Amino acid sequence: MHRTLVALAALFIASLPAQAFRTPKHGAETETLAKKLGYDSTCAKVLNKGNRETDGEDKKLPQLALFKGTPAAPIDAKGRPTHLFDYPPAHFDSETFALGSRRLRHTFTLVFQQLEKGNRENALWLMGSSLHSIQDFFSHSNFIELGRKSIDLYALSDPLPSLICRPGQKPNALTSGYWPDNAPVKDKCHHKDLNKDGTEHPLHAKAFKRAIEESTRFFAKVEAEVKRRYPSGAADVIRFLKNSKAKAPDFQLAAQKANPALEKCMNAAPKPVPGSTMHSKRKKMCLQAHAR
Ligand SMILES: [Zn+2]
Repeated sequence: MHRTLVALAALFIASLPAQAFRTPKHGAETETLAKKLGYDSTCAKVLNKGNRETDGEDKKLPQLALFKGTPAAPIDAKGRPTHLFDYPPAHFDSETFALGSRRLRHTFTLVFQQLEKGNRENALWLMGSSLHSIQDFFSHSNFIELGRKSIDLYALSDPLPSLICRPGQKPNALTSGYWPDNAPVKDKCHHKDLNKDGTEHPLHAKAFKRAIEESTRFFAKVEAEVKRRYPSGAADVIRFLKNSKAKAPDFQLAAQKANPALEKCMNAAPKPVPGSTMHSKRKKMCLQAHAR
């Protein structure tokens, strides 16, 4: 699998885009990667939208409501989740590593909640938003400067408050730039001191390569989770996620352990059409008789 990731990353480096981490390039790169991984163009566009809108200031985005009560978005004075533009954990800014990881974990759970509701659009939007944060990490932190090889973005902890970062004195430990640039924070670097958002930065290409590798890993993580949750119907669930024309599978049946007796019962002639009354009657009967 690792070799596949490297090969995919190599494909990307061959056509390194300018300003890869800047909106809307951020989203466009995600859309291109998704298509290479088998998402159709409608689905890839939603991934692009989720990525792009994570840098947006629209407080009325319907997907923001999905974050209610979670650390995946900030809240306004009335306790409603609001836009993500200047929410540091959505961009791994301002050393918010622990909260950034929590946001990724929560969003991952929400992806599957939305999938099970049959809401492919929301699931893809949430994936796009996670990918935005994952990609930002490599531009906004000093991970690339430190020359580190591996990182678990879902279990990061914050640096020590005493860690010093100045433009001429970069630390030997992980940090990220404070946002906004014009709000002074003593002995810490700002976004402008560390970001590798555009090609004018000498480490932009390295950061972009790493961001694409980690994005590819994220897509693989989603598919691995589908296989874990839906052992009997993983292929159908993945088809539903990647193909805008595919109908939602029966998630309850998909979640059953591999069960030949149940499958035989469901497929016995006359085979019911998914979604029909006959299908739900058959399902009830087969689950009663054969569910493990
Ligand atoms: Zn961002």
